[in-house]
Amino acid sequence: MRYGSIINGQEHNENIRETLDVNSPYNGEKVAEIALAQNSDLEDAVNNSFDTFHSTMKFMPAHKRADILRRAADLLEKRQEDFAEAIVKEAGKPIRFSRNEIKRSIQVLRFASEQAKNITGEVIPMDAAIGGENRMGLVKRIPLGVVGAITPFNFPLNLSLHKLAPAIAAGNTVIFKPAEKTPISAYMLVKLFQEAGLPDGVLNLLMGTGEIGASLVTHEKVHKISFTGSLPVGKEIMKSAGFKKVTLELGSNSPNILFEDAQMETAVTGLVKGAFTFSGQVCISAQRIFVHKTIYDQFLQEYITKTKALKIGDPQNEKTDIGPMIDEEEAKRAKQWIDDAVENGAKIETGGERKGTIISPTIMTDVDRTMKIIGEEVFAPIVSVIPFEQEEEVIGYVNDSKYGLQAGVFTKDIDRAMRVADQLEMGGVWINETSTYRQDNHPYGGVKQSGIGKEGIKYAVEDMTEMKFIGVKLDA
Ligand code: NAP
Repeated sequence: MRYGSIINGQEHNENIRETLDVNSPYNGEKVAEIALAQNSDLEDAVNNSFDTFHSTMKFMPAHKRADILRRAADLLEKRQEDFAEAIVKEAGKPIRFSRNEIKRSIQVLRFASEQAKNITGEVIPMDAAIGGENRMGLVKRIPLGVVGAITPFNFPLNLSLHKLAPAIAAGNTVIFKPAEKTPISAYMLVKLFQEAGLPDGVLNLLMGTGEIGASLVTHEKVHKISFTGSLPVGKEIMKSAGFKKVTLELGSNSPNILFEDAQMETAVTGLVKGAFTFSGQVCISAQRIFVHKTIYDQFLQEYITKTKALKIGDPQNEKTDIGPMIDEEEAKRAKQWIDDAVENGAKIETGGERKGTIISPTIMTDVDRTMKIIGEEVFAPIVSVIPFEQEEEVIGYVNDSKYGLQAGVFTKDIDRAMRVADQLEMGGVWINETSTYRQDNHPYGGVKQSGIGKEGIKYAVEDMTEMKFIGVKLDA
């Protein structure tokens, strides 16, 4: 099937100049074709979103926005299997994990529906200033206008909803540019919103490559860009966005620290999942595991054993833990990084092989900070285990990175847990949980080059609204 842009409720998939094939990451079969948006489509989409904001969205009451989001959640709940299958097909994500993504997406819509009714303001104590006795001051939160949402392939539904749902809850219109590899779930999502009663033009879909994304970023009628994706693209967006708000949710080389009193079973089980879910193509995937030297041997042995038990294969299969990477180019890049590390003295404890798009789950040791598998975002099923002795030493190692998204710390000592959490340069720290765990209602986003701004419905709504001050002079 051919998937095109949807502008003002109308599909644009005929008379197009260029198309792009979408192939299954697992077996290479063509699963879809996208009709690439032209610059004229971008103009139409932006003008329509701008006009719809001024004609419709600005006047839509909160209870109506909440109802639409709740209906979208209900519809998604009914169609969860169709959406899960679409994600398996386009992204190669194993079915169990695809289903989990849909469950989270339903919750995101429900959180957004509730948030739409809870966008509150402030009363300013005007009499705090000399001469302010007869004045009253209010702060309201108002929508920004047109939000451009640019999303990655790895959680094609949930990470898109982390932008679309709060944008709608806040009363904005949205132009949605999904990843070119995952157009099917994006198209289905826009159709689902239509069915839920979202007026035409509130959510416009632009199907295309990074090129159309770049044009969206520079457009003057777009008031905000909310981007989730890689650091190089994030840097380009930051440079070219011009006079608009920007939220960037970027990459990481997430650390996890196991102190000598770590609960071993919790840590091992969690970190197998945390490093290898969706072949490590998760922004907060456990990439560096620091283990206190007194428990290093025990951890490594148990970790290797559990990793070897993972089932590799067809993402459609209910039992599959490890499926393909998004494409062969990415799998080759990952294999090259393993080989480079080995050439420089690293050891493969298990895995390290590539078969087409599949990289076997790989545990590395004897690594150092100069290796790409440590210093860069690996975004593949490759994890490194590193021994340490002192608390300050491990904090220094973790912080010596351009990234700072989320970390995991395993210890039963609450004083140490809080001390370490305070010192880690991260957007978020989990105690006795892996870096890879994310709940959809907590503030989420990185520091340093992992990003700017926060998501997690309530926080995204804050980022997608503006404060407006209204002052009253009484007894005038
Ligand atoms: P990507 O290559 O950066 O692409 C992300 C989106 O940006 C896609 O829609 C892409 O379009 C578009 N794009 C590409 N070039 C662009 C440009 N010059 N201007 C505007 N848009 C452009 O990322 P990805 O490979 O899909 O996703 C993996 C990355 O996302 C990883 O680095 C991962 O850490 C990060 N990520 C971060 C989070 C987080 O919350 N912090 C969550 C998930 C993923 P095309 O698909 O057409 O190229």
